[in-house]
Amino acid sequence: MIHEILPHKLSNEFRVQDPKPTDFLIRYNGSKTLLKKNDEGYVIPQVGELLAVEGKTLADFEGHYLFSIDDTAFFLDDSLAGKTDSAASAAPEGFEFMGNRTFRGMNPVERMGGATAAHIAHWESLNKFCGKCGNVTIRGDHERSIICPKCGNIVYPRISPVVIVAVRNGDKLLMAHNIDNPNPRLFLISGFVEIGESLEQAVHREVMEEAGLRVKNIRYFGSQPWPFSDSLIAGFTAELDGDDTIHMQKEELSEALWVKREDIPEYETDVSISCCLIENFRRGFTINP
Ligand SMILES: [Zn+2]
Repeated sequence: MIHEILPHKLSNEFRVQDPKPTDFLIRYNGSKTLLKKNDEGYVIPQVGELLAVEGKTLADFEGHYLFSIDDTAFFLDDSLAGKTDSAASAAPEGFEFMGNRTFRGMNPVERMGGATAAHIAHWESLNKFCGKCGNVTIRGDHERSIICPKCGNIVYPRISPVVIVAVRNGDKLLMAHNIDNPNPRLFLISGFVEIGESLEQAVHREVMEEAGLRVKNIRYFGSQPWPFSDSLIAGFTAELDGDDTIHMQKEELSEALWVKREDIPEYETDVSISCCLIENFRRGFTINP
């Protein structure tokens, strides 16, 4: 899964740190991140190379420390966020502003680091002004927070909980395709947790809403950060309880069906818990995450 980057290690405790030329720089314009194009695709630019391209030095550096993976730090420059003119999307030659999904094609360290940095950048970009009094906010200096110096309002990082569930019916798995997912493959039922419900209650509700089915024997499988939707995903397995007739929610899904184990193709398990849950079923519910 995306956060499993051994032997590398994410150090995301809050601290203030100066950049070195080989650190990564996330330049975020409010929706996209400036990436460097090479023959194989895109990589995250280093602080030094982006400064060099722009004829600047470390003394000109605009950005702040986010976290490190091993000895390489990730810095965020969000000075373009909130600007709507063409400057916000102007990229030096060889660089391009790209959406979050681009990180998925990178190596495990840049994939995890880049997507996580973009998650933080998105949160910061949404909180430039206080939601309570409208004053300009500042970043906290001893924890990851955004503070309003006028009214004292404190905003912590936005992490939205999501549940995902592999519902089993004998040797069949409930699979679905979300209409918003550009990937045409079948995945699992999932959804955001509502205020006022537990993770297990969210599983019951989502399966009922999206497929019209009841489930029982809900078991926790594992969790993963999912920075692409500012989320933390909790994965579960469950069994069908009663009638297996699917009533698909057409507003959310384009497909929902029972798929026999032998008809499920192999899924790569290096990024998403969804694929791990599907593989877990395909291999006979014997493999733990
Ligand atoms: Zn305020």
